[in-house]
Amino acid sequence: MMEIIYPFLILGAIGAVLGVILSFANRYLTVQEDPRLDDVEKLLPGYNCGACGTPGCRAFAEGILSGEVKNLSRCKPGKPDKHFNPILEYLKDHPNPDNTKVDVKI
Ligand code: SF4
Repeated sequence: MMEIIYPFLILGAIGAVLGVILSFANRYLTVQEDPRLDDVEKLLPGYNCGACGTPGCRAFAEGILSGEVKNLSRCKPGKPDKHFNPILEYLKDHPNPDNTKVDVKI
């Protein structure tokens, strides 16, 4: 009978220890993202085609917020009225943490 119970106890103990480790890792190793990143990504076309020279729309949005991307027109499927102007409007209302404007244009 004990041969059956030991594996359950051992696996349960391992699961509990790993759960505690994952809980601490989640608490202390979380990377804080720019809260604007999701919003800017949603304003892009979302094709993830790579025509802008980045691996996808999220990377392009990261480039916009970091200042690496200076021209939104690098996004070939993007339309000024549908995508670029809403992004510029959004960035006007959501400056960088140091209160400077994001330097990007169409
Ligand atoms: S070109 Fe535009 S749609 Fe394509 S990945 Fe870049 S940002 Fe996304």
